[in-house]
Amino acid sequence: MADNHDEERDPSADRARQVRPLPMLTFAGAGPEGLESAMDVPMELRHNVLVTSVDKVVNWARKSSLWPVAFGLACCAIEMMAVGTSRFDLSRFGAEVFRPSPRQADLMIVAGTVTTKMAPAVRRIYDQMADPKYVIAMGACTIAGGPFQGSYSTVPGIDNFLPVDVHVPGCPPRPDALLWGILKLQEKIDTQSLADQRQQSRTA
Ligand code: SF4
Repeated sequence: MADNHDEERDPSADRARQVRPLPMLTFAGAGPEGLESAMDVPMELRHNVLVTSVDKVVNWARKSSLWPVAFGLACCAIEMMAVGTSRFDLSRFGAEVFRPSPRQADLMIVAGTVTTKMAPAVRRIYDQMADPKYVIAMGACTIAGGPFQGSYSTVPGIDNFLPVDVHVPGCPPRPDALLWGILKLQEKIDTQSLADQRQQSRTA
């Protein structure tokens, strides 16, 4: 007996199977926030296909999933902790997963007074983080020594031993100021290029 199964198959179901996209690129409407198509795609593919550059996708993934290393040095750290609470809700920006190990973190928020005795430990934690990694200097103490500037025990700014990406001024800065700093860092990550990073690592 002839098998007429193929003849009865609904052609629209076949089409739906053929155009099924990668899960990451599946979206309805304009796409995930911050990741938009760089080219016009045909109308019938617009809900399933996104055309963009590798740099855009990588930067979007990096900036949307910053993992800060969990440590604090003084009073500014209390404000840093507050950004994780429901009132400020750091998770809106994908950076709420504070990691206890530098191996799992890519963002260091230095919050509090850095003493000369503590500076080597802070640098060691930074060195143990995987590349690419970013640093936010939070508060007057980390930026320039704060009220302890000129004392025998305080580092006059963490720029002396760390590459800082964003400075968040204040004594202490409010939690929303730190949110501003994280948004600034996201803007900076958005301008990065994989080709430039490869070039830099070759010449380093
Ligand atoms: S900047 Fe002000 S609030 Fe922050 S650690 Fe220094 S003294 Fe404390």
